[in-house]
Amino acid sequence: MTTTSSPITGIHHLTAIASDPQANVDFYAGLLGLRLVKKTVNFDDPSAYHLYYGDETGSPGTIVTFFTWPGVGGRGRVGSGQVARITLSTAPESLDFWTERLRRHGVAVARAMRFGEDVLEFADPDGIPVEIVAVANDQRVGWSGGAVPAAFALRGLHTAELAIATPQITETLITGDMGYRLVRREGDRARFETGAGGSGTFIDVVATPHAPRGLGGVGTIHHIAWRVPDDTGELTLQARLAAGGTLVSPVRDRSYFRSIYYRERGGVLFEIATDVPGFAHDEPAVSLGGALKLPAQYEPARAEIEKHLPPLRPARTYA
Ligand code: ZN
Repeated sequence: MTTTSSPITGIHHLTAIASDPQANVDFYAGLLGLRLVKKTVNFDDPSAYHLYYGDETGSPGTIVTFFTWPGVGGRGRVGSGQVARITLSTAPESLDFWTERLRRHGVAVARAMRFGEDVLEFADPDGIPVEIVAVANDQRVGWSGGAVPAAFALRGLHTAELAIATPQITETLITGDMGYRLVRREGDRARFETGAGGSGTFIDVVATPHAPRGLGGVGTIHHIAWRVPDDTGELTLQARLAAGGTLVSPVRDRSYFRSIYYRERGGVLFEIATDVPGFAHDEPAVSLGGALKLPAQYEPARAEIEKHLPPLRPARTYA
């Protein structure tokens, strides 16, 4: 395996599919204490919300997003060819706090150990696997203005676990054109990192030859986005992937970043997203997530779009 230098510096975001938007806001902002940094619609289907959570400013690597499709499409199935979990970092002394907080509010939790790290596993209201990992050397700070004391706040994505039936081709792509390097292997799990390395840059590839094929839908993670600093990095990667035979999309303007997409051969949808322009370009940083934001092409239809979206209250308060 040879590693090529790459403009990818880590994870940008994960996007999953939820059913009820209010339950989603209550869970991720109310219970987990992430900041709702953007309330918009799915740019390909403006009848559905697209909700973004992250740290105070929605820094790349802290962002988890959801399309909410209540009552349509039906449930997906977690399995091979998907990102398997939403894995979030917290300070080592925080796991007891999280265990107690989640249990008190009726969320079943289990403890696990991976790569020597303490992991707290649970599921969100749609059954999406979520975990909180105690990480000693993560300098990022979580949102201090939220529902959780700053010392215990979630600091962003730690790793992203790809469940792949036969990982060889996926690993070759990651360590080739995408520039990742192997950190270590443990059983059927391999951890890779890129750039400066550490929390927020990891990717775990897990061999799942006997798992059912994953099916997209409510309760599953739709795709993973990696981050590049700017458009130059994005175009460099786009050209490199295309030259290597990967079918890669044109650049799409996602308002808060610009993206290209491709499906790797293990089945996971990959996105490369730019760090720029970020979430504060269409509303003040202090009130991120407060108003429904629409891309310019949908502004003329705002009244119609708002009429069809379910009402959304601020996150419930959990004692
Ligand atoms: Zn995305």
